[in-house]
Amino acid sequence: MSKKTKLQAPTGMHDILPEDQKYYKRIYDVVSDIADFYGFSKIDTPIVEDLELFSKGIGASTDVIKKEMYTLKTKGGDLLGLRPEWTTPIVRSYIQNGMQSLPQPLKLWYFGPCYRYERPQADRYRQFWQFGFEVFGEQSSVIDAQVIQIFYNILKELKLKDLMIEINSIGDSNCRPYYKKLLSNYLKSRESSLCVDCKRRIKENVLRILDCKEEKCQPIKTEAPQILDHLCEECHSHFKEVLEFLDEIEVPYTLNPYLVRGLDYYTKTVFEMFFESDNEVKGLPAGRRALAGGGRYDKLVKLIGGKDVPACGAAAGVERIISLMKAQGIEGAKDPEIQIFLAQLGGLAKRKSLSLLEDFRKSKIRVGESFGRDSLKAQLNRADKLGAKLTLILGQKEALDGVVIIRNMKTGNQETVKLDKAVSAVKAKLKK
Ligand SMILES: [Zn+2]
Ligand SMILES: [Zn+2]
Repeated sequence: MSKKTKLQAPTGMHDILPEDQKYYKRIYDVVSDIADFYGFSKIDTPIVEDLELFSKGIGASTDVIKKEMYTLKTKGGDLLGLRPEWTTPIVRSYIQNGMQSLPQPLKLWYFGPCYRYERPQADRYRQFWQFGFEVFGEQSSVIDAQVIQIFYNILKELKLKDLMIEINSIGDSNCRPYYKKLLSNYLKSRESSLCVDCKRRIKENVLRILDCKEEKCQPIKTEAPQILDHLCEECHSHFKEVLEFLDEIEVPYTLNPYLVRGLDYYTKTVFEMFFESDNEVKGLPAGRRALAGGGRYDKLVKLIGGKDVPACGAAAGVERIISLMKAQGIEGAKDPEIQIFLAQLGGLAKRKSLSLLEDFRKSKIRVGESFGRDSLKAQLNRADKLGAKLTLILGQKEALDGVVIIRNMKTGNQETVKLDKAVSAVKAKLKK
């Protein structure tokens, strides 16, 4: 590489700079509080897994596997994939670590980066962060409603406005094969009018035609048979119960018969939470932006080699949420406020300040300092800027006498105390 080449982050990937960390922190804090409240335990998995896990779990014909997965071959010859989502790795871990034999339901949550090789665009990155919740070993529709409620609560807690929820049922192995046949028969009769991708999807992944965004496919979709009319009795009553629970806890939703989600493993309930705007909002282009989505996946654990365990979960995109927070003027986590400022003048004072700083740290008093600066005036300005209530001034003379000046920044009153009494004197003044 020539010396002139400017090294940059890989295309579609970004650094999370200090000014953005506070958004990640705010979201993390809200998510982990809610996870604690609802009894979820945190899990982390490696960012790479056996390629086979993903193609088995997500479905070899999905866009995620065919186009978007980052793959690599290790020196030992193993084929690995960078995780494009968390659910399949968590299912793998659930099976591998014997979590099937623990008391169920087993509830897990996560927060971390995923990778997809997509065309980079506004708030769509090739490395992006997700958080999510998974519940294993519970058949009941109450869990579907609770997962939706958790995501709704998180986005509400973050103060996001104008959120919408869409929900659908895509049936199970009882009723979906029949519906898929019905749908593909219908679509084959209109095949010539479908877009190129959809022509391929008829054979590979017929349900995905329902969420095709191409203009020419829209009229065909509208006329297509709808899954809700063809659910078996069990799927039908499960879905009805989910909606009744959501009514009960006052989570607003609309039915969207075209919502199928991109991944093969879903059964019964699927949902999506999004923000939609007709106009550009502070840098966010007009249109629909999905913030979270998920559903039930009763067959996935068995598909990956575990027992027949029902499961339900969802994930949210952290960068999408952050760009909406910014567009809606919502702030990230606040920096901790400093209480006092430590100003020093001269070599001896600087040395004594270092150990004084440690005394305050042990007493859990947050101290600001700028040891690199030597001008007292500059240090007092800094103290003002940081909003310190008190400033401790340690000059050459004070250092020699073993005392320190405590200055009240509001009134300008000053008091001189012995160095070994500084912490207790500050504590007393902060209490006032
Ligand atoms: Zn299409
Ligand atoms: Zn069914």
